[in-house]
Amino acid sequence: MQEELRELAREKNALVIAHNYQRSEVQDAADFTGDSLELSRTAARTGAEIILFCGVHFMAETAHILSPQKKVLLAEIKAGCPMADMITAGDLRRMKAEHPEALVVAYVNTSAAVKAETDICCTSANAATVVANIPADREIIFVPDRNLALYVEKKTGRKLIKWDGFCPTHEYITVETILKTKAERPEALVIAHPECLPEVQDLADALESTSGMIRFAQQSEAKTFIIATEMGLNHRLKKENPDKEFISPTKKAICPNMKMTTLRKAIETLRQERYEIRLDEETRLKALAAVEAMVSYI
Ligand code: SF4
Repeated sequence: MQEELRELAREKNALVIAHNYQRSEVQDAADFTGDSLELSRTAARTGAEIILFCGVHFMAETAHILSPQKKVLLAEIKAGCPMADMITAGDLRRMKAEHPEALVVAYVNTSAAVKAETDICCTSANAATVVANIPADREIIFVPDRNLALYVEKKTGRKLIKWDGFCPTHEYITVETILKTKAERPEALVIAHPECLPEVQDLADALESTSGMIRFAQQSEAKTFIIATEMGLNHRLKKENPDKEFISPTKKAICPNMKMTTLRKAIETLRQERYEIRLDEETRLKALAAVEAMVSYI
């Protein structure tokens, strides 16, 4: 099936991109793997006419925001992000009405409609830098992830007006699961994603985005790592560091939405050119402005 997908992609001049949390066999069939923004930027640079996005809904929207002239297909249309779905554009408009002077910073894990109501987008890798570069006298609304917001508050010393969103998959990683794994493998370093609970973040040797985790594992002298994020990342970590060991603290660190995409569904989506993700131009341009604003704050 991997060959079938590759062949079809060649025939159709399509680029297959897969998020780091996708199934191993889907990652292995893709042209590129990475985090959501990395992938959308890669999609924007390529000459391919079709982008087959193996990920979740907001990611394909982001690819379309950056590449409106390309046909962006979401391999599995039912794959959403529960965290992104925890805030709507209406919720954010109400927050803005309560804090009319505040600048809005939104994590990239949001719908395009929420991005369109946002001043500056951020990723987990640059959220703290974005916030640190906002003038000290400006109020800041930060959505949707409460754990990332707490991490940013700690790093920057700024007070944020937070939304109570979270990633259910990352919240399955608890202090108990980390301590139990650490007791079994005391030599292991703990690398945690800032979507993890604050008390898990406090136990980590390093707090990194998925791309930061990949760099950290490559550069570290250590041989064993407890990876506190969705376990799909372990596939790439193992592939790129065959002499090192990567352990998930819990078997529950699986995002069901990310795992909805199978090779068979990806092939069918590309064959039929179904599940195209498009936005109305007004929303796209407003969301694009928020994504582009990020670059001027990092
Ligand atoms: S792992 Fe969490 S944040 Fe990522 S897509 Fe799944 S639910 Fe959303």
